Amino acid sequence: MSSSAQRCSHVDQVRDVAPNTPNGCEECLALGMHWVHLRLCQECGHVGCCDQSQGKHGTKHFHSSHHPIMKSFQPGEDWSWCYVDELFMEPAVEPGA
Ligand SMILES: [Zn+2]
Ligand SMILES: [Zn+2]
Ligand SMILES: [Zn+2]
Repeated sequence: MSSSAQRCSHVDQVRDVAPNTPNGCEECLALGMHWVHLRLCQECGHVGCCDQSQGKHGTKHFHSSHHPIMKSFQPGEDWSWCYVDELFMEPAVEPGA
């Protein structure tokens, strides 16, 4: 590997997903918890909360599902994060890109 910019090898796993729970974090909604920011799994549409949230359900979703890439579900934010490569990608990864 050269020292050029790191590439994520998981972008072809990204699909054109619709959020399963458009109103918030799936687990927080079920448990009556509060979240800070939301993240959308780009493989299955799971909506989870960020690591600043008490539940950290976005990260828990990665650990249980091994879906590598999620993107911000915040209005006005356009970025993706790969948990496997720990790589921040802006703008967000698009399906078929
Ligand atoms: Zn990756
Ligand atoms: Zn949550
Ligand atoms: Zn997922």
